[in-house]
Amino acid sequence: MNVAELGEVMSGLGEPGWRGRQVAEAIYRQRIVDVGSITTLPKGLRDRLTLEGWRVGRPGVVQVFTSVDGTERYLVQGQADALTVETVWMPEGDEGEAGDTAGEEAAGDGSGRKWDRATICVSSQVGCAVNCQFCLTAKLGLQRNLSAGEIAGQVVEVLDRQRVEIGKDRVNLVFMGMGEPFLNYDNFMRAVRLLVEEVGLSPQRMTVSTSGIVPGIERFAEEPAEIRPKLAISLNAPNDEVRSEVMPINRKWPIEAIVDAVRAVRLRAKERVTFEYVLLGGVTDQPKQAAEVARLVRRTGLPAKVNLIAWNPGPGIPYTTPSEGAVEIFRRALGAEGVPVYLRRPRGRDIYAACGQLKRTEEARS
Ligand code: SF4
Repeated sequence: MNVAELGEVMSGLGEPGWRGRQVAEAIYRQRIVDVGSITTLPKGLRDRLTLEGWRVGRPGVVQVFTSVDGTERYLVQGQADALTVETVWMPEGDEGEAGDTAGEEAAGDGSGRKWDRATICVSSQVGCAVNCQFCLTAKLGLQRNLSAGEIAGQVVEVLDRQRVEIGKDRVNLVFMGMGEPFLNYDNFMRAVRLLVEEVGLSPQRMTVSTSGIVPGIERFAEEPAEIRPKLAISLNAPNDEVRSEVMPINRKWPIEAIVDAVRAVRLRAKERVTFEYVLLGGVTDQPKQAAEVARLVRRTGLPAKVNLIAWNPGPGIPYTTPSEGAVEIFRRALGAEGVPVYLRRPRGRDIYAACGQLKRTEEARS
């Protein structure tokens, strides 16, 4: 619930509506998880809320996997059922990961903490219906949508675990975990509103990635700039033929239809659209395909950049990871064509936390 809805609950109980703000502060800023601890409310009101069955809370971490690179993968469970999703914490500290945020300065605060900035990868659905051939989450199929509270709640839970101070620490959100956010559009955008308005995160530090759900992109284009995250398109192929093979959803919404929809998004000053590109050995990593991708990106006329990701292996998926040499040749070929290109270093591969590896795997790889 947002402030207004919490205010209505309070009014319904015969309390002043402004108490809604106190409850929102407690849930989203102080990260309190039980009504009895909201000390800004009078004791009598807390007792009454508890007696009447009102609860505050959020999804909880039920299992943690820690990678050698500092990445943490959480299995997160809501309160509605036993299903879990995955949320990933990627600290970027001393090693200063190059990639999506390459060129930014690390903002050391002298606190001795291990990270200067960090990224949280957030899930939007349990499983996914999209069926990208390179993705482990696809193997689950769609089990259910997450509610707005479950999406925003993952973030608040991780902020709390990592003792993140809003307004001081630099934390990015990427909606690139399990699920296709634009197939759970209303809950996804409601979660974004909660995260911006109640938690206090900037939408300019959030990126949503879509496999190219055109009606979702069209709705997204209508969202006001104060609330709209940045947009990433999961491209993964140089043309429709290859894309339809690795992402069957392309048969429904081919590249040109996606690009047309993206053109309607009113980008902020200096904002760029990201094209995510998974390099599959022998399938999408050929140098001539790099030139094709460059032409494709230029043809869009959009301020854009390409994020390359060498495919992360998963059991039962018949692709290979390209060699480092092949990745480098591809990256250079794109760069030589004048396309801004970044290589995303895989994070947490050893614990199945990397891109395309989220499948509620309950064991880290040995
Ligand atoms: S890559 Fe994303 S959209 Fe495609 S199947 Fe995996 S989770 Fe779904």
